Amino acid sequence: MFSETFIFYLILFICIFVIVGLLASRTIINSKLAVSDSKLSDMKFALDASSIVAFTDAKGIITYVNDKFVEVSKYEKDELMGQNHSILNSGIHSIEFFKELWKTIGQGQVWKGEICNKAKDGSLYWVDTTIIPFMNKKGKPYQYVAIRNDITDRKKTEEQLKDSLKDVRDITFALDQSSIVAITDAQGIITKVNDKFCEISGYDRSELIGQDHKLLNSNFHSKQYFKNLWKTIGTGEVWKGEIRNKAKDGSYYWVATTIVPFIADNGKPYQYLSIRNDITERKKTEDMLHRQDKLAAVGQLAAGVAHEIRNPLTSIKGYTEFLQLDETNEQRNELFDIILDEIERVNLIVEEFMLLAKPKVVKLEDKNIIPIIKNTISLLEFEARKKHIRLHFNANVDRVLISCDENSLKQVFLNFIKNAIEAMPNGGDLTVKVIVQDEHVQISFEDTGVGIPQDKLNKIGEPFFTTKEEGNGLGLMVSFKIIEHHNGQIFIESELGKGTTFNIQLPYRIA
Ligand code: ADP
Ligand code: MG
Repeated sequence: MFSETFIFYLILFICIFVIVGLLASRTIINSKLAVSDSKLSDMKFALDASSIVAFTDAKGIITYVNDKFVEVSKYEKDELMGQNHSILNSGIHSIEFFKELWKTIGQGQVWKGEICNKAKDGSLYWVDTTIIPFMNKKGKPYQYVAIRNDITDRKKTEEQLKDSLKDVRDITFALDQSSIVAITDAQGIITKVNDKFCEISGYDRSELIGQDHKLLNSNFHSKQYFKNLWKTIGTGEVWKGEIRNKAKDGSYYWVATTIVPFIADNGKPYQYLSIRNDITERKKTEDMLHRQDKLAAVGQLAAGVAHEIRNPLTSIKGYTEFLQLDETNEQRNELFDIILDEIERVNLIVEEFMLLAKPKVVKLEDKNIIPIIKNTISLLEFEARKKHIRLHFNANVDRVLISCDENSLKQVFLNFIKNAIEAMPNGGDLTVKVIVQDEHVQISFEDTGVGIPQDKLNKIGEPFFTTKEEGNGLGLMVSFKIIEHHNGQIFIESELGKGTTFNIQLPYRIA
């Protein structure tokens, strides 16, 4: 049997053990509590710093707000405490919206959403809101914690974005209604066309997408025209111009075209937007007017030629009749010379007129232009010297081949030299220069004569008949025509009383 003392000690020992154990576990719990306490306050601090926090009771009466809440709502703390949340109602949301909210949290579920509130000063602010219901033992919420974050800036950006998207949609709509629109990629492959594009071109959308714009080429414009176009938009600049296109059924249509390059971050265009408007009708009217203009010009020309021929014919007739009556006249030879001159003048006018009315189909041959020019100058050297005019010639090459009709070009050069001589009644200098440049050879006739008045300068190359002294304008007209036939151009610079320069530019084969 155990002695009573033993039992007593045993019980005492057990008691001490239990007490010590209890004490020990109590310290552990306490320290655990302390730890979780500090975690909680950390979290509260973090929440307070980051979010707008409010507590309400079961009826939605505010029982706590943090500093951020005060800051954002612009109310004082005691103005908020004891109030209903409807104090912040902005009127933006529907009654259903809040009904739904209360239904959710009333059932003990978390509600999340974006709410627009009204601050004390009337300004609106958006908050991203989470409301957490806290439940009592009966399963009923006894308080709600609302955690909100200010998203006013984000909302504003969203609104702006929406606005600008709407603008873009509106503009696109307006453009689609008014214009023929296409988008191509950097290589010129069509990636998008609008209905109007399909309509005017007569192609289905599927026939256009993936194609080159060449599909619509009507072969009206030169290669250079499209080269320039690509050069312009390729360097990121807007191109504007008029293009004649060919529809699927082979008919032609004209479009006033604007091509806008879209530039990537690397500075290179990644796509092109082309906006076109149908100008076929306008072009037709223009064509008609042009034809009428031409007809009027021809009529004017014919009238002028008739007039020009009548003058010398009248004098020829007069002199001839005079000579018929007076066979012994001492001036007989002189008068014959005049008659012959006048006949020659008529001849020239008729010849030039014929050439103009029906330009000869000439065979072009490669010819060195230098000796041709020198030769032409020498033809008029005698006449020039008589009129105290010095002729100069210089060239930066000895040889430059031009694909040409030699006689036609000679006629042009002769005309320019003759005109210059006539423009210097009191003598002067005529310099003929040949300069081979990158893309063409330039032949210039520079005189120190009377110059050409502006109104006349504008009409050069067209017939302008006035008096005999002023000439008939056929020479220059024919010259322009011939140079045009040789794919060249003529530019004129002139200053009254100082002189005139005619510049002919011609493409050359070999320099
Ligand atoms: P024409 O020689 O028969 O007068 P053109 O067509 O050759 O006809 O020239 C037309 C007119 O242009 C001339 O009459 C003259 O008035 C003017 N013109 C041409 N060349 C010159 C020049 N170098 N300087 C001044 N006027 C000129
Ligand atoms: Mg002339």
